[in-house]
Amino acid sequence: MGSDRVGFIGLGIMGRGMSRNLLDAGFDLTVWNRTPERADEVVDAGATLAGSPAEVAEAVDVVVTCVSDTPDVEQVLTGDGGVIHGASAGDLVVDCSTISPATTRALATALAERDVEMLDAPVSGGSEGAAKGTLSIMVGGPAAQFERVRAIFDAMGSSVTHVGEEHGAGQAVKLVNQILVVNNMLGVGEALLLAEAEGLDLQRTLDAVTGGAAGSWMLSNRGPQVIARDWSPGFTIDLQCKDLRLVLEAFERLKLPAVGTGLISQLYATLQRRGLGDEGNHALVKALEHLAGVEIGA
Ligand code: NAP
Repeated sequence: MGSDRVGFIGLGIMGRGMSRNLLDAGFDLTVWNRTPERADEVVDAGATLAGSPAEVAEAVDVVVTCVSDTPDVEQVLTGDGGVIHGASAGDLVVDCSTISPATTRALATALAERDVEMLDAPVSGGSEGAAKGTLSIMVGGPAAQFERVRAIFDAMGSSVTHVGEEHGAGQAVKLVNQILVVNNMLGVGEALLLAEAEGLDLQRTLDAVTGGAAGSWMLSNRGPQVIARDWSPGFTIDLQCKDLRLVLEAFERLKLPAVGTGLISQLYATLQRRGLGDEGNHALVKALEHLAGVEIGA
């Protein structure tokens, strides 16, 4: 373990598990969450609660952030009471949120003006991966900073990859990841729709296909939730739509055809319109059920 003192900002579904794993790995942790009660669990486990992101930065050398969207990261880093107002030269910000690569570069520039370093380190592996410390972490930014916080990444993830020296490279790889996630979820939904309409035993169907060439993280983790009609979120539809907006912005900028991902984005939008934004992203199947007039596992 390095000698850096560590801060964590954003104790949501992901941040709670990630910060618990940092505590378990022996890091001296200072935390902040906008809604203070959501910090109780981590404080009870041994973390120190700070009064603002700036206070976190004053207390530590490395600040990890995991908040919702691009403006939220801007708020906790450079807004009133933000990290930049408490950080010292040589400190490092590691942003594990999924946000715009372009804004990541702008934030890195703003921090660099105060001699504060930044890595973008978005994650994949869901709430399960955050809780178990088995996240995939894709990191952009200077290799020396990556090496500096390798022990922090190893405490939170089991697959940690430095994807490029450029700020925003991690975020760009995360968009690639999200294309794979949603297209996979559409396939899981279509497959289970057919299984239902054929009158197959859904659990036995999952048992039969999960270990073969069709297996995937989404199938193993979300397939059972779909057939149990458990829509509790590991990753909410609202956040999935945020990521799809970032993906489609990249497709638009690069003049690429978003054939599958564009369609899936429209399906997710119908679910948000129906007020289902707080449900898990596997509830994508509800859009297919609505089209087909078939309910899986009902
Ligand atoms: P979440 O449960 O909704 O938590 C969001 C966190 O961000 C909460 O701590 C929230 O504080 C904080 N926050 C939001 N806006 C803020 C603002 N303006 N100022 C200060 N704090 C703010 O979301 P999550 O699932 O943990 O996701 C967090 C990030 O990880 C997102 O970028 C998401 O895309 C990414 N991610 C999630 C998953 C997943 O499976 N869940 C997987 C990979 C990546 P409050 O408690 O006050 O609301």
